[in-house]
Amino acid sequence: MLNLEELKEMTRINPEDDCYASLYLNVNPVTNPNGEYLIRVKNMLKETAEGLQKQKAVLKKVKGELERFENYFLTQKPQFKKAVCLIGGRNGGFWKEYHLAVPLQSGIFVDSTPYLKPLMDCVDRYPRYLAMLLSKDEARIFVVQMGEILEYGEMKTPDIIGKHKKGGWFALEQDRFERHAEFHVDLHLNDVIRRLGAFIQEQQIRKVVIGGPAEAVSMCMEKLPRDIAGKVIGNFAAGMYEPAPEVLEKALPALDLFERNEKQKIVEELVERAYKNDRAVMGLDDVLLMAQEKRIMTLVLDPALKKPGFVCANCRALALSQGACRFCGGSMNGVNYLIDLVMQKTVEHGGRVEVAPDNEKLQGAGKIGAILRF
Ligand SMILES: [Zn+2]
Repeated sequence: MLNLEELKEMTRINPEDDCYASLYLNVNPVTNPNGEYLIRVKNMLKETAEGLQKQKAVLKKVKGELERFENYFLTQKPQFKKAVCLIGGRNGGFWKEYHLAVPLQSGIFVDSTPYLKPLMDCVDRYPRYLAMLLSKDEARIFVVQMGEILEYGEMKTPDIIGKHKKGGWFALEQDRFERHAEFHVDLHLNDVIRRLGAFIQEQQIRKVVIGGPAEAVSMCMEKLPRDIAGKVIGNFAAGMYEPAPEVLEKALPALDLFERNEKQKIVEELVERAYKNDRAVMGLDDVLLMAQEKRIMTLVLDPALKKPGFVCANCRALALSQGACRFCGGSMNGVNYLIDLVMQKTVEHGGRVEVAPDNEKLQGAGKIGAILRF
């Protein structure tokens, strides 16, 4: 997952004498079944080196990074998701590698600092959620984004006396003991809540789900300040020491429900606007046309939609039927993954993709549509 602290740290790199190369590449195994991205990356590297012919000093500094990029793709066989980002610099002293579950705009950027905009855009576009596990004396926090979970740490409030044995002479003071224990639970919750507010801001968290023993969860809910309470979209039951993937599994129903409602709003906007002919289209053929004209702001589709189609060998326009390209008259080649190409095209032109599974309204509208820029 994208680590926001790491990204922010990179934005603070001072543009000094160093040189960084940042590479973004769509490597989706569906659209690159035979490693087609290799040809693309070689061309991108060649173009970058050619573009720097007039800046010999820069080229000299970054040559090693460009070679490292090429070697990476030639020698490694990583489990690719949809896109990869590599950032190298300081003559090999700096290296970062990110695998993303979404397509990105491909390109190589050479500068005195890492080029982070596409990664930052991902953080903005794909909501980050906070999942918290809470008990009387412990809290574990996780960030969930794009279906991945990352544990950020735990808080333990020491000196909780709730675990003391009851009985003996101590029983005489049971009353005081209970008050004392309550006081500690209070301290713990207040501490968690205080840190939570700062964390939500820092991490650009959109919504929060809280899990753990029911009693601790409800006590916490009562104490939450209004701004945090407004972000809580659900609770879940979970043990305090479960591994992260299980926490994710238990938190997912609440997150899914929230996302489904959000998608429903987008689908409704799409359908309503398309109906009024107000910068929106429905159905694959119109979407393909709009993609070629770079007008798509938000592509909305059912993930089950799969279609073969054709790509223009000349201008890369997409079409459902064979024949001459309707844009340039070029010849069309058949492809099996037309929908993946539309998604990629949308992102490459600065649009975003919203996937809405099992949405009746979208299915009734041909499973795909687009909200347009103009
Ligand atoms: Zn064409």
